Amino acid sequence: MTTFTTEDLNNAIAGAEQQGDDDKDYKQAYLGDAIRFQMKRDGKRFWAGDNISEYIKPEERRLLIDEAAEAFETVLDRLLIDRENDPNSKGTARRLAKMYFNEIMAGRYESAPDATAFPNDSEDRYEGMLVVRSELRSMCSHHHQPVVGIAYIGIVAAQKLIGLSKYTRIAQWCARRGTLQEELCNDITREITRATGSSNVAVYIQAVHGCCENRGIMAHSSLTQTTVLTGSFKTDPGAKKEFFDNIKLQQEFAPR
Ligand SMILES: [Zn+2]
Repeated sequence: MTTFTTEDLNNAIAGAEQQGDDDKDYKQAYLGDAIRFQMKRDGKRFWAGDNISEYIKPEERRLLIDEAAEAFETVLDRLLIDRENDPNSKGTARRLAKMYFNEIMAGRYESAPDATAFPNDSEDRYEGMLVVRSELRSMCSHHHQPVVGIAYIGIVAAQKLIGLSKYTRIAQWCARRGTLQEELCNDITREITRATGSSNVAVYIQAVHGCCENRGIMAHSSLTQTTVLTGSFKTDPGAKKEFFDNIKLQQEFAPR
């Protein structure tokens, strides 16, 4: 667990002051600034799709939400929305801050789901393919618009197995961030590989993107498909075919 010191806080304030912020009211040190300072110092990447849970103590989340709520108030003011008199906009700044930290970007601030592995090394061990269908809710980093879809996760069982629900928990943990679908497909593949120890992992995602539906080209029937294949899924055409045949069976079973 990384912690920040008073010196870090002071440095964060000094840094903000050097940037020309000579407002005399600017006396408060933001925890968010101290954490950003520390991540920069450590060379820790903190892009929208990165998990930064190691830098945030659980009890610090409340203060970070307070700070974000204050910043969202400024955004609403700049958008010329009357958050004092409009009853629907009164609590919006805080609702946004809580939603980002606790829901739509929770996968940045929470550590990886616990995925206990069970041995799969007895004589009658399972050696076949497993395909798990996981519903995803994500958000694009570019526009903060919703990404809604399904991930199909395929693995060839290795020396250990994880509980079926863990595939979806891991996929959702990766998805609850600001992502690109291509990156999300890579992230889920990497985390499933890590949790299962299998070097044969495949992930296929199909999703609709709010940034194509609600704005821009306003395409209401667009669907984006991405695939990552590793190990035998990549080298063995039979395994690849079995994976996609299983996906078709799943889609017949539960169309969307
Ligand atoms: Zn977008």
